[in-house]
Amino acid sequence: MATTTERLEGTGSGAPEQTASKGPPEHVRIAIVGAGFSGLGMAIRLKQEGIEDFVVLERAEDIGGTWQANTYPGCQCDVPSHLYSFSFAPNPGWTRTFSKQQEIWDYLRRVADEHGLGGYVRTGHEVLSAEWEEEVGLWRLETSQGPFSAQFLVGGMGGLSEPKLPDIPGIDSFEGAAFHSARWDHDHDIAGKRVGVVGTGASTVQIVPSIQPKVERLHVFQRTPTWVMPHNDRPISRLERRLYRRFPGAQRAMRSAIYWGRESFVLWFRHPKLARRVPERIARRHLTTQVSDPELRRRLTPTFRFGCKRVLPSNAYYPALTQPNVELVTDGIEEVTPKGVRTSDGSERELDTLVFATGFHVTDMPATRMVRGRDGLLLDDVWQGSPQAYMGTTVAGFPNFFLLLGPNTGLGHTSVVFMIECQLAYIIDCLRAVQRRGLTTIEPRPDAQARFVAEIARHEQGTVWTDGGCVSWYLDRTGRNATLWPGSTVTFKRRTRRFDLENYATTPAPSASPSRVGEQAQAAA
Ligand code: NAP
Repeated sequence: MATTTERLEGTGSGAPEQTASKGPPEHVRIAIVGAGFSGLGMAIRLKQEGIEDFVVLERAEDIGGTWQANTYPGCQCDVPSHLYSFSFAPNPGWTRTFSKQQEIWDYLRRVADEHGLGGYVRTGHEVLSAEWEEEVGLWRLETSQGPFSAQFLVGGMGGLSEPKLPDIPGIDSFEGAAFHSARWDHDHDIAGKRVGVVGTGASTVQIVPSIQPKVERLHVFQRTPTWVMPHNDRPISRLERRLYRRFPGAQRAMRSAIYWGRESFVLWFRHPKLARRVPERIARRHLTTQVSDPELRRRLTPTFRFGCKRVLPSNAYYPALTQPNVELVTDGIEEVTPKGVRTSDGSERELDTLVFATGFHVTDMPATRMVRGRDGLLLDDVWQGSPQAYMGTTVAGFPNFFLLLGPNTGLGHTSVVFMIECQLAYIIDCLRAVQRRGLTTIEPRPDAQARFVAEIARHEQGTVWTDGGCVSWYLDRTGRNATLWPGSTVTFKRRTRRFDLENYATTPAPSASPSRVGEQAQAAA
């Protein structure tokens, strides 16, 4: 019989059996891994650039990435719709100021369709390994559907794609239904059930109000309370939508206003004292207004600075916690038993359903265990739990490799789609330089990468992320912020506008005719 962890890990990605069939590799100039915002964005930009020789390999049976995988009740983006979308594909039809999962997923599928990506995307293709072969200057990929080779490899796997299960004793012994929030089991009806939700992060604040009215009992197991802010989510009226359709400039102006408004949040995050004065007061008032019980309020009050962990917008989470069928459990979880969960006070809550909303492998992404660069070195061995990349995009020792939303390109205050678009501009400019100069490989110089990482470390000093008094998934094994860009996205955009070849080691093509670069790679494959 499958254990709970096997069941939890083995469902929902849509991945086929992991058997690589043999045969000659299919060669492409560029292999993109993942068909979420990153991979699809890369594909569109390549097509716009006139580059058609690429493939998008997606392990799931459909495109959409995180918005295909996360289908938990209440799943919604906490970044405004007008900003959480491609700048080159505005959607005047958004129906809410903060879009729900289905609408974002539909948007991505529509954008992929409109840009004719159908023939380029291979769903059900799980990449099992990607190895750089120095002699021929190519990436060799094994996928669940056969081998591929490529001159360039683009990782668009996303930092929040591998569910993380807590290391709780007895987790395999639970006899009820158990699943991770990103692998929601829709065949399991939670109506009238006794449900436990472990974790109180971004997913839980959306799950709890959605399922509370349906379940018999809801136990929310909290280890650390987080800051919750008032949410200005509302339907977008037909009139507004008509306005955006008729006057696209109005939607651009709205996007711009949202962008600059969110950008100002960086001030709070960079200056913890400011965070204490302004947003923490707003969040405390929100809590006081919504929760009258002083004891519950105390248990929901964070002890770290605002922004140290991701700030959660919700008007429905606190009210749901005050409902008679809901219990906030703050005693630590000792073990999972066949019947439920036992906490440190010795009591056991009997449960039918156990949901783990316990986050993702971010600084220890499993994908790093499948990428081998120069000298056969695994990315995982190079990083050792402390990811480093040049400009968050390229990695020394890994030629012709780009990572979208790589180390230090995440954000706590605004849209990561903005960061993806900056990286796409950088990669496209790199490909132009490669073509123009007749290069076969590019790879960031180790000294340039070290300088960049040191610069990030200097910038994050004194910020809420490192000095805010919390342990978050932004921090890596060494306590370094390896996840967030510690500044304004304006700076990131400026830094990635032009590809800086001077910071890269390059290999010229043997018979340096720029137009022959692709042909040579083809011949080597
Ligand atoms: P998360 O924010 O990482 O939260 C995980 C929760 O699980 C935390 O409360 C954590 O407690 C708890 N936890 C972990 N291990 C535990 C254990 N052994 N015992 C008890 N509790 C444990 O995960 P998430 O809610 O899935 O969100 C992850 C990220 O996904 C977000 O930060 C966000 O970037 C993204 N997301 C975005 C949206 C959106 O609207 N755009 C929605 C959902 C998710 P501690 O705090 O004590 O570690």
